[in-house]
Amino acid sequence: MLAVRLRLGAVLSNGRVAGHVDQPVHLVPIPEGPVVSSPLRAYCGLMIEPRTAEVVDAVSGAPCVKCLLAAPASQWSPEGLVY
Ligand SMILES: [Zn+2]
Repeated sequence: MLAVRLRLGAVLSNGRVAGHVDQPVHLVPIPEGPVVSSPLRAYCGLMIEPRTAEVVDAVSGAPCVKCLLAAPASQWSPEGLVY
C-alpha cells in the first residue's frame, strides 16, 4: 500500500487546480508493473491521475478518513504503513 497526496498546483481531471484542500493523504494499493501510466484508485474511491500526486511518508499530513476506514487494517497502523 502507498500513501499519496495530490501535488499543489496539479491540474485535476475536472480542470480544477489542486490546492491545500486537496492535500489529505490517501492510501492506494501498490500498482503492478514498473511504470504507472494509468490512474491510481485510492481506497476511498478517488481516481488519481499519474503525475498529479506524490508518494509521502504515511505519518506526514492529514489522513483521508475514508481511506483509513476502507483500507485493509492489516496494512497500516497509527504509526504508519505496515510493509
Ligand atoms: Zn482517500
